[in-house]
Amino acid sequence: MQVLKFGGTSVGDADRIRQLVSIVSAARAQDERLVIVVSAMAGVTNRLLDAIRAAVGGNVGAIADAQTELRRRHLEALARLVAGEAEVRSLTAELDALLDRFARIGEGIALVGELPPRAQDFIAGLGERLSARLVSAALREAGIPSAAFDADRLIVTDDTFGAAAPDLAATALATRAALLPALESGQTPVVTGFIGATPEGVPTTLGRGGSDYSAGILGAALEADAVVIWTDADGFMTADPRLVPTAQVLSEISYAEAGELAYYGAKVLHPKTLLPLIPKGIPLYVKNSFRPESPGTRVSATAGAWRADVKSVTSIKGLALITVAGRGMLGVPGIAAKTFAAVAAAGVNVLLISQSSSENNLCLMIEAADAEKTRAALVKALAMEFHLACVERVDAFQPAAIVAVVGAGMRGRPGIAARIFSAVATANVNVIAIAQGSSEINVSFVVAEAEAATAVKAIHERFELGAAAGERAFL
Ligand code: ADP
Ligand code: ASP
Ligand code: MG
Repeated sequence: MQVLKFGGTSVGDADRIRQLVSIVSAARAQDERLVIVVSAMAGVTNRLLDAIRAAVGGNVGAIADAQTELRRRHLEALARLVAGEAEVRSLTAELDALLDRFARIGEGIALVGELPPRAQDFIAGLGERLSARLVSAALREAGIPSAAFDADRLIVTDDTFGAAAPDLAATALATRAALLPALESGQTPVVTGFIGATPEGVPTTLGRGGSDYSAGILGAALEADAVVIWTDADGFMTADPRLVPTAQVLSEISYAEAGELAYYGAKVLHPKTLLPLIPKGIPLYVKNSFRPESPGTRVSATAGAWRADVKSVTSIKGLALITVAGRGMLGVPGIAAKTFAAVAAAGVNVLLISQSSSENNLCLMIEAADAEKTRAALVKALAMEFHLACVERVDAFQPAAIVAVVGAGMRGRPGIAARIFSAVATANVNVIAIAQGSSEINVSFVVAEAEAATAVKAIHERFELGAAAGERAFL
C-alpha cells in the first residue's frame, strides 16, 4: 500500500492532472492499493485567502470575483478531463455547491467585518475539496475506480485553527474505517490534503504547505509501505534550485537530515511530514511529476552509503532576531528562563537560540510578524532586571534569515564550521549569530535577509555541491 501526494503544481491544470493519472496508472500496475492525497490547484489557496481578507476589509466584490475565477478554472479543467455529460453535470453541481458556500460565508464575513479563525480554516481548505473531486473524476474517466474523500472525516485534530495538531490514534481509526473497505474493493481513494477536523467535526487546517503532512499522517494511519511526494522538483536538492541553478538531487538522505532541511526552509517538504512516519520506519520518496522516470530522493532511517560532509544548504526568510542584552547579565541566574517563559506565554515559536559565552546577550530567532509582541512581552517580563540594570536592551532586528548547512557526515569532522564561515566571509556576508544543534548534523547562522541568497550560494560553491551528486554519493 502506498500513499501518493500530488502538490499544487502537479494538479495545476488539465494537462498536469492527465500526467497524474498516468503516474497513478503506472503505480497501480505495481501495487493496486494506492491512496492519493492532493493539494489545491496551484494558487487557489492564496486566491481564497486573499478574497476573504479583502471581504473583511469591506470589499464584497472580491468574493464574487474569486468565485467566478475559481469556477472557470475548475470547470475548464473538468471539461478537458471528463467526456460523459452526466458526469460533468453532477461534478459541476458538486463544485458549485462548494463555491456557493464560499460565497455565502464570504458575504457574511464582509457584513460582520471580522474573520473568525474557524471560518478562515474552512475557506482555506476549500481548494483541496475542489481538486480532490476533479482528480477523482479524472481517474474514473481513465477506468480507475475512485471516490473523493474529505479529510475532515479522516484526520482528527485539536482546535488550533491554522496549524492544527493531529490525534494520530483517533485518525488511524477513522482513516482505516473509511479507506480500507474502499481499497479492498479495488478503489483508489483521492483524499484532500491540508485539512482535518476537531472531534466535533469543525474543519481545521494543518498549516500552509500541509498537504505533505496529510500524506505522512495518512501513511502512518494506514501503515503504508511508502509515501511518495510528487512535486515540481527532482527531489531533495543540495539547495533550492530557484536560488542555485547548479543544485543537484540528493539520491538518499536520512529522516534527520530531511527534517532539518524542511525545518529550515526547504519548501519541498512540510517540516512535520516525517514525524508520523519515523516511529514506523515508513520510507518517503520525493519525485518530480514532470519527470517521473528520474529516481528522486529516498528519505529513510539510514543516511545511505554516502559520507559527504555537507549535503545541502537552505535558508528561511522573514524572521526577526531578538536580542536581550546587558553587561549585568553575567552570572545572574534565571534570565534565560524568564526570557523563554515570556516568549512561550506570548505563543511565539522560537527557531534558533544562541548565547554568547560572555553571557552579555541572548539571541532568539522568531517570525518577523511576532517581533513587536515578543519585544513588548520581554520588556514587561524583565522589568525587574531592567530596574536592577542586569538587562539594558531588548532589540528586534529584521528582516533576518537563518541559513542552515545540513549533513550527517559533518558529525565529528573538524574544520567544517571553519570552511562554512570562511566561505561566507569571502562573500562579504556578515554573520550576526551562530548556533549548532547538538546532533551536529546542522550548523545554522543568522544573516540579514538580503544577504541570505549570497551566503547559500557561497557555501554551495565552497563545498562543491554543484558537482555531480552521483559522483560524490559513493565516495
Ligand atoms: P508542492 O506544491 O508540490 O507542494 P512546493 O512549491 O511546496 O511544491 O515545494 C516544491 C519547491 O520547493 C520546489 O519547486 C523548489 O523550488 C523548492 N525547494 C526549496 N528548497 C529545496 C530543496 N532543498 N530541494 C528541492 N526543492 C526545494
Ligand atoms: N494548498 C495548501 C497551501 O497552499 C496546502 C498545500 O498545498 O500543501 O498551503
Ligand atoms: Mg508544498
